[in-house]
Amino acid sequence: MNIILYGKGNLGKRAYDYLSGADGIMLTGLCSDSINESDTKLEFADSNYNPFRVPVLSLDEAGEAYRNKEADAIILATDNEVISFVSRRILEKGIYDIALLPSYYEDGSYDIDDGSFEWIEITKPRLDYIEYHISFHCNLNCKGCSHFSNLIHEPRFGDYDQFVKDISRLRDLFWGISKIRLMGGEPVLNKQLPDFIYAAREAFPDADIRIVSNGLMIREDQKELFKAMRECAVFFDISTYPPTGHLLNRLSEICGKEHVKLTVTPPVNEFSASLNPAGTSDPDVSFATCPARHCVYLCDGMISTCIMPQIIDVFNNEYGTDIRSGENDVIDLYEEGLKGIDLIERLKKPMEICRYCSSNRRVFEWKPGNDPHMDDWIAGT
Ligand code: SF4
Ligand code: SF4
Repeated sequence: MNIILYGKGNLGKRAYDYLSGADGIMLTGLCSDSINESDTKLEFADSNYNPFRVPVLSLDEAGEAYRNKEADAIILATDNEVISFVSRRILEKGIYDIALLPSYYEDGSYDIDDGSFEWIEITKPRLDYIEYHISFHCNLNCKGCSHFSNLIHEPRFGDYDQFVKDISRLRDLFWGISKIRLMGGEPVLNKQLPDFIYAAREAFPDADIRIVSNGLMIREDQKELFKAMRECAVFFDISTYPPTGHLLNRLSEICGKEHVKLTVTPPVNEFSASLNPAGTSDPDVSFATCPARHCVYLCDGMISTCIMPQIIDVFNNEYGTDIRSGENDVIDLYEEGLKGIDLIERLKKPMEICRYCSSNRRVFEWKPGNDPHMDDWIAGT
């Protein structure tokens, strides 16, 4: 099989090394695609990492080689965030056999073999991001938690069977998802977390899957969790709230021993509040300035642009408010005739409930919120 490699950085270099030595594969070209000098350019070819002197081709030349049957496929080994964009560009050049090497092969923690490459189903789009609540409640209960976890008074967990069904439905609609964040609340509170990890990885072998945690519940005896994360190349995203800060060395040590990667946010000492219960905000303005506008949220067969329309009942029930979502704010994943491409378009638009958010975010100091008050969530005036 004759392959052209579209690679970048260390992932591209590792793909190059593997493909140039693999049985039955001939690396016939390196695609140097100068879309933008600062992002998707093929850096490793430009820095002369090409020990076998494989010809460097423009994307047009790669398309020509494919049409002339001098190349059977193109393999992407580049930044996860640009895969959707780059694969569309390649399709536009008439190349229909495209595979990718997932980003978790980048640093050598996982060995590459022929099964590491995922073929793209070109009839479907790729979704950029989803988040999912493994647990709705939390051990930390920060004041003004944007997911209202400190208002969830009884343990509440994601429904595993429904998740398996929903993630498989998403696989019907999309060939891939760039990033899946399993979060909450505190996901580590859910003993079934390893099962969720296996299910997410099985459905989306190429996704960058993260467990978003405050880190306080991570212990070295959670062997099943570490095993699932290791086997599925799933990493921790640790949010560094003040109580987490002094644990970071210990967490790094535990994760290092278990060969599980973790990334750590900069210290989070401030939160912000944006609710406007009167609903008088301009939804387009609120949406345009909202940091959560790309945080697509999945729960029990329903999907929405952000978590708000699916979780606002928690706030309404606690404080007797009447913040309402519009009938189109939440989309049924099982809607008849739903197509992935249409779903992406719908998820890009402001929702009716955005009028209950203000662009005038009020910043306040992080505090534990054992005594929550409605004002904790209210925007500045
Ligand atoms: S750690 Fe704080 S912000 Fe994060 S889910 Fe728990 S209560 Fe909310
Ligand atoms: S409802 Fe709209 S403005 Fe409010 S957090 Fe969600 S996307 Fe942002």
